[in-house]
Amino acid sequence: MILAEEREQVVWACRRMRGAGLVVGTAGNVSVRAGDLVAISPSGLDYDDLTPELVGVHRLDGAPVEAPLRPSTELPLHLEVYRRVQARPGSGDPHPGESGVSAVVHTHAPASTALSLVVDEIPATHYYLALFGGSVRVAPYARFGTAELAAGVAAALTGRRAALMANHGAVCVGDSVRSALDLAAYLEYVCDVQLRAMSTGLPVRTLPPGEIESVMAAMAHYRQTPPGASPGVAE
Ligand SMILES: [Zn+2]
Repeated sequence: MILAEEREQVVWACRRMRGAGLVVGTAGNVSVRAGDLVAISPSGLDYDDLTPELVGVHRLDGAPVEAPLRPSTELPLHLEVYRRVQARPGSGDPHPGESGVSAVVHTHAPASTALSLVVDEIPATHYYLALFGGSVRVAPYARFGTAELAAGVAAALTGRRAALMANHGAVCVGDSVRSALDLAAYLEYVCDVQLRAMSTGLPVRTLPPGEIESVMAAMAHYRQTPPGASPGVAE
């Protein structure tokens, strides 16, 4: 079985995603990239029934390599994100979100989706936005599975590790499936806090200009991992 490890990671992430309440039922999808190949969750299969063998492997142009089931309807979105990162000059440069993208997690998390209905960008209210490389943009609505949605989301991700999808959900990218999944949970938390603040009807304070950038610099020295462990997301 090709990409055995990546396919196992997709299964693990799909179950974690549902267990964390970031999706309901078969919603959402996860992909992991290895070179020119992408392992992605299949469409419409209960995550309890998902096994590594049922995770499809496709080339970056979408051609199936080993895919026993129909791929996620958002395969075009995942591929567009990987292609844009790969095509961008200096993709190994320090721009947040533009280097080391090897996993994409798409959720329908409730607070993330709710906030996508009312803002065009998550305001700079919480320093956690530094985790995503700055204020998170909301990609314009387009129907699921379309090239228009894929292009809009990929553009919204420029220089970022997350984007909201208007009237739909959220997408996070990472240098591992674990980091992308961690970011999805942080994003949901930030959106939930923002919604609660807005629901008071009181003015919502934003951070001073430049604070997110300062926090990003501080976070670069904050991360710790146990010896031998893979790096996760800063607390
Ligand atoms: Zn979706």
